[in-house]
Amino acid sequence: MQTAEQGVKAKKRVAALLATVWLSVASGGQPSKDGDAVSVRRVPGPGYVAVVVENRRAYDVTVTLTIRGQNVHISRLTPETAVYAGRSQTEAVRVSAADAAKPWKWRFRFHWTKGSMDARHDDATRYRLPFEKGRTFRVSQGHNGRLSHRGVNQYAVDFAMPEGTTVCAAREGVVVDLKESSDTGGRDEKYKDESNYVSIAHADGMIGEYHHLQFEGVLVEIGERVAAGQPIALSGNTGYSTLPHLHFGVYSAASAEQMQSHPITFLTAQGPVSQPRAGRAYTAE
Ligand SMILES: [Zn+2]
Repeated sequence: MQTAEQGVKAKKRVAALLATVWLSVASGGQPSKDGDAVSVRRVPGPGYVAVVVENRRAYDVTVTLTIRGQNVHISRLTPETAVYAGRSQTEAVRVSAADAAKPWKWRFRFHWTKGSMDARHDDATRYRLPFEKGRTFRVSQGHNGRLSHRGVNQYAVDFAMPEGTTVCAAREGVVVDLKESSDTGGRDEKYKDESNYVSIAHADGMIGEYHHLQFEGVLVEIGERVAAGQPIALSGNTGYSTLPHLHFGVYSAASAEQMQSHPITFLTAQGPVSQPRAGRAYTAE
């Protein structure tokens, strides 16, 4: 059997791994590290030890759970990398001695990311611009933007707007995550975990993210269903941000290690827009 101390070491390794993953994710306005969201624990059963994955958050997560050991029989109830629904507890693995007469030991490791790797973007969906009908804002950073729209954030869009501007849902869905406690931000990567945000899960499993919101500027609650166009927040300049703006992107899990953004089409007063251009202004309809 693995000792409690070995278990703690395993958890520390996982924490270190998570920190590495989130560093790369957070720079473009992604959620800060959330070490409490997913936990894995052992539960003794008759003749085996169950490994249970708990997802405490309202959003789906993609988890890779690996088991290594000596003289063990490993019975998997879920694949090594699997999607775990929001607010769920799942028995993922049962571990027992292969030869009960001999000593056995084992350990687990896991890492995870927000969203479902099984989600497929519904490309027929049209999005609203994430602000009030009739208002016009300029794109300050588009796809593949030099400052921070690389990798995970490739297809995100930044709209320059004064702090306190009403932010509206670009698509209907359910609020699954938010932060509004931060009152700091600036032109420095040290602020990357200080962004206030709202996350909205959509019918196809995509998660829409609205970032850099004002301190206490979130107008909705986790679990609330929101309609497209509904006011959800007030914009701000929190987190890693060089000017007051709204960062909007649509994401899913690429794997248990990384999220990915998806190209989307906005319906605007200027017509359908699939590649918002930096420097160009668009009007919500
Ligand atoms: Zn951005």
